Amino acid sequence: MDFKLSSEQELLRDEARKLAREVFQEKAARWDRQCEVPWESIRLPAGKGYFGLLIPEQYGGAGSAPMDLLIVLEEIAWACVSTALYVFSANAHANRIAQLGADAHRRSDLPRIASGEVIPCHAMSEPQAGSDASRLRTTAVRDGDHYVVNGTKCWISRGAIAHLYLVDVNFRDGDHAEKGLLLIERGTPGLEIGKVEPLMGHHGSPSTELVFRDCRVPVANRMAKGDFQASLMSMSVSRCCNAAMALGAAQRAFDEAVEYVQQREAFGKRLADFQGLRWMVADMKVKLDAARLLVYRAAANATSGFPSETEAAIAKTFANEAALQVVSDAMQLFGANGYSCAYPLERLYRDVRGLAIAGGTTQIQRNLIARAVLGRRRY
Ligand SMILES: Cc1cc2nc3c(=O)[nH]c(=O)nc-3n(C[C@H](O)[C@H](O)[C@H](O)COP(=O)(O)OP(=O)(O)OC[C@H]3O[C@@H](n4cnc5c(N)ncnc54)[C@H](O)[C@@H]3O)c2cc1C
Repeated sequence: MDFKLSSEQELLRDEARKLAREVFQEKAARWDRQCEVPWESIRLPAGKGYFGLLIPEQYGGAGSAPMDLLIVLEEIAWACVSTALYVFSANAHANRIAQLGADAHRRSDLPRIASGEVIPCHAMSEPQAGSDASRLRTTAVRDGDHYVVNGTKCWISRGAIAHLYLVDVNFRDGDHAEKGLLLIERGTPGLEIGKVEPLMGHHGSPSTELVFRDCRVPVANRMAKGDFQASLMSMSVSRCCNAAMALGAAQRAFDEAVEYVQQREAFGKRLADFQGLRWMVADMKVKLDAARLLVYRAAANATSGFPSETEAAIAKTFANEAALQVVSDAMQLFGANGYSCAYPLERLYRDVRGLAIAGGTTQIQRNLIARAVLGRRRY
């Protein structure tokens, strides 16, 4: 067992760190207020090759291992979670297409995602179906060479910005009914971008409703291996990415707090000299290191493009909750400044809060972990 990054991974981390700290760090607060990351900034990480890390080389990507992606996500989320979300979605959804799509999808979509020309997003949630995806109502009814799609999706991150939608639907073909994934291009008649969801965080990566009204999609856009189970399994990549971004945001809060407690004084001494606060910082460090090891374990053990469902669930649960605690403790150490919008901590708090719900809540992750340990429930 080797706990060190390779020299190539250290180089990748250092380059991502440089970009994040020189470009994104200073602008993140403005993008959060404006509810937008400008296109030229979204395309910067694509230009560095970060959108195509998980995309095979033959389709214009780097063909890297999941670990490389998580290293980059952590660094970018340290500066700006919203920007990291674009890197995450390009890779995670491209990985779905690479693993579950047909050759034609790979050839047409993956090079465009790697270059940043096409932003993909995943549309699963519906007003009545979030954790319980079996309640999806969106239908795709076969009509000759097309599916006719009807339904409403909600909370879809980057829904108004994306060019390609990976949509979970109920396929109906005569008597045959099955859930699965369909690729729908932006601009397809019958696809409307609905209201922007007024979320607490992730402001630079806004979520929207999507409404499908008799939206005709070629049958060829159905993901070749995109049955419902495969679609759910493919969430393990997203969950590791989510955990890595939570970790990056929490590391930022920790770094800010470590600097602050060594400068700020109260009762004639530095905050860093109060024993209670020293232990708080120590506990934050323990949580960060433990989260990082779980995230790296899930990535290092990934086979055939996907981390194990259980290891990804463990990493996400722990990293989400550790990040919330670390950011909250950092806010406490900052006193009123921690609660002030002049400092980054309140934005980090809002962003990590969303990560504990998006991609499957921590309760749903615990269900997956318990199922791996105890088997399915008996009624
Ligand atoms: C920032 C953000 C971005 C998002 N982006 C996307 C996106 O891009 N695409 C997309 O499809 N969706 C997206 N979502 C939606 C997200 O996937 C859902 O919110 C999530 O799956 C939970 O579903 P829900 O909100 O309907 O909550 P519900 O399913 O109604 O759950 C409510 C509560 O009950 C708990 N719960 C539910 N079932 C169980 C159970 N069996 N056991 C124990 N507890 C349970 C949940 O953990 C939660 O605490 C996003 C959400 C957020 C906050």
